[in-house]
Amino acid sequence: MPAQFPDRFTPVSKPAAGSLPPGRRFPSTIAIDGPAASGKTTLALLLARQLGYLFFDTGVMYRAITWAALNSHVDVDDEPTVCTLAEQTQIDVRPASKPDERINDILVNHQDVTWDIRTKEVEANVSVVAAYPGVRKALGEAQRKVGLRGRIVMVGRDIGTVILPEAELKIYLDASPEERAHRRYKELVERGQQANYEELLAAVLKRDEIDSNRAVSPLRPAKDARVLVSDGKSIDQVLAEALVWVFEGV
Ligand code: C5P
Repeated sequence: MPAQFPDRFTPVSKPAAGSLPPGRRFPSTIAIDGPAASGKTTLALLLARQLGYLFFDTGVMYRAITWAALNSHVDVDDEPTVCTLAEQTQIDVRPASKPDERINDILVNHQDVTWDIRTKEVEANVSVVAAYPGVRKALGEAQRKVGLRGRIVMVGRDIGTVILPEAELKIYLDASPEERAHRRYKELVERGQQANYEELLAAVLKRDEIDSNRAVSPLRPAKDARVLVSDGKSIDQVLAEALVWVFEGV
């Protein structure tokens, strides 16, 4: 389980078996998809905590391969080499070992890259890497294995459509590009980092465009996904809406 959770959160009552309609149980596999910076991670962490489930953010794997390519001076436009790298790179996601606001430790071939995968450079290249079918095959198989264990909240772009199409609850969390860029801006400023709203908006739009138009596993809601638009809503409101679906049971 992740060690850190957002602190801007008013706890709601813990789900109890009695809160479910008779004969129903909580969804065991929960997929949360949506565009960059829509708040998926925050929502997923809170749901995982409420339910005592594993939290798994699949985006870290695409970031890890992108970091590995950049770090070994592989041209990210060199698709065959990047795909081979994805097949050969060991990515580990472990419980957080340091109290520096990390959610998990992310290791690439045993090296801690938890913060290295969050740089602007990785962010500018990750969607290109994630569009390669060979990369998606290598990482997707590993993701599905973890997802099939159940009692999990999985975050990504294609969890409900491709990785775990049988997920028992699928949420597609959306927000306008302006709202998402604004949230990113606030986050960076609060962390004492430099931020430029226009640049962030352009980066979000660029990632959306590549993620939505790629040939394999494009970003889109699954047919049976519950769409939650978070513009103007607090995290408490978003969580409360998602919990209504959890409490409906399956
Ligand atoms: O969610 P996050 O912003 O960390 O994801 C980084 C990038 O990884 C996304 O912009 C997308 O290109 C890719 N990704 C993906 N499929 C996933 C998760 C992430 O293509 N399931």
